[in-house]
Amino acid sequence: MIPTGAMQLIPNDTPTALADAAAVPPAPGSMAGSDWKRLWRDAVRDPRELLALLDLGDLGNRISDTAAAQFPLRVPRGFVARMRRGDPHDPLLRQVLPLDDEERPVPGFGLDAVGDAAARTATGVLQKYRGRALLVTTGACAVHCRYCFRRHFPYDEQTAIRDGWREALDAIARDDSIDEVILSGGDPLSLSTAKLAELTHGLAAIPRLRRLRIHSRLPVVLPERVDGDLLAWISGLRWPLAFVIHANHANEFDAGVDAALARLRGVGATLLNQAVLLRGVNDSADALAGLSERAYAAGVLPYYLHQLDRVAGTAHFEVSDAEAITVHAALAARLPGYLLPRLVRELPGDTGKRPLTA
Ligand SMILES: *Cc1c(COP(=O)(O)O)cnc(C)c1O
Ligand code: SF4
Repeated sequence: MIPTGAMQLIPNDTPTALADAAAVPPAPGSMAGSDWKRLWRDAVRDPRELLALLDLGDLGNRISDTAAAQFPLRVPRGFVARMRRGDPHDPLLRQVLPLDDEERPVPGFGLDAVGDAAARTATGVLQKYRGRALLVTTGACAVHCRYCFRRHFPYDEQTAIRDGWREALDAIARDDSIDEVILSGGDPLSLSTAKLAELTHGLAAIPRLRRLRIHSRLPVVLPERVDGDLLAWISGLRWPLAFVIHANHANEFDAGVDAALARLRGVGATLLNQAVLLRGVNDSADALAGLSERAYAAGVLPYYLHQLDRVAGTAHFEVSDAEAITVHAALAARLPGYLLPRLVRELPGDTGKRPLTA
């Protein structure tokens, strides 16, 4: 459950100057809309170009063209700039580079690890938990994360935007139990703000709804997306907005990300972080404490630490439950309670994410 008082837990004087409202740089103006789209299109898509930019040409023989053909590399240049040059183990690089490890079939790692097919109630609508409807708004993402649990999702047929939101809005309007709508994807902020406004205009006609939630990696991987138009749209929403960013490592934050997050807080969004526990990226108490502390400095509270969904091609990222519990206990022993994410796993048929710790 989202802590409803989360906003109050975030003081205005968090230890970064950018979190101070007075220091927030002005939101980019109306030209910014075309700006993020240009940066989006300009993403690195060739694994060998990425390695060249990082002085890691030697790693070329570890790249899998098969994996890259199935789920192409895509990473915005601003995110590449946060990777360490010359470091083959960089935690940001590891999240995006298609490696030959992905080709190895591993028993138990399938195409629909979390039962999305069975949870579909209408085009682009997944409903697994009481009161919450998740919209697979679009299949597009600014960054392609190799561990993604939806890398095999049939986006072509199954996005809510496809029919101009009609089926999704009807399904939500019909179901009296739904009081929260979650915009997911893909990345919902890959849609234009006008398209998002169309959706929330439709949702505003359903008086029962009480909360809106957005899950997006864009404030972290392409912070320019948080432009004046987006902020104006959020300011006009009729529900409290929970904004869940997906950062897995402290190095994903920089001044541009801090500023984007400060802008989101400035229009009243409650900021939460969800991470996936990933071998070689954040599988230590040091890395996870660094992540919680860095996120908090940007005004973001930790929410979930997910065990990897067992999706084909991702086995090399897996951390066993036993090790996850040990790492989480070490984290609990060094952080204040409000900086400790809940360690959970998603299993088909559960009534919510399943906690791995008591
Ligand atoms: C994860 C998920 C949610 C959100 O669960 P919370 O515990 O509320 O964060 C909702 N719907 C679906 C289909 C999900 O997979
Ligand atoms: S941004 Fe999210 S949905 Fe998109 S590839 Fe990454 S993990 Fe998957």
